Amino acid sequence: MSPPVPKPPKRIKSTDMLIKVHLRDGCECLYCGKKTVRLDTHHIKLRAQGGSDVLENLVSLCWTCHAFVHAHPDKAEELREILNKRYRYIQEQML
Ligand SMILES: [Zn+2]
Ligand SMILES: [Zn+2]
Repeated sequence: MSPPVPKPPKRIKSTDMLIKVHLRDGCECLYCGKKTVRLDTHHIKLRAQGGSDVLENLVSLCWTCHAFVHAHPDKAEELREILNKRYRYIQEQML
């Protein structure tokens, strides 16, 4: 028996979800605030760790910050905080 071949990371299939994430984040990088047309969607809890494609686990990042947070896994907590702030901000706007 050969060992199972590791699957390559899957891309998020739902364009709907990508649009929702980017809209929530104001179409800018949640980490540095840069507005760019090429926003990535990053899983705060990595897929490899069981993170799923839910809004609460996804953030918009520019390429630079995306590479940065992958090089610094300890930034996950900070990303979560930034995302919480974003949700508070949205709630205030709706009041
Ligand atoms: Zn950025
Ligand atoms: Zn990522």
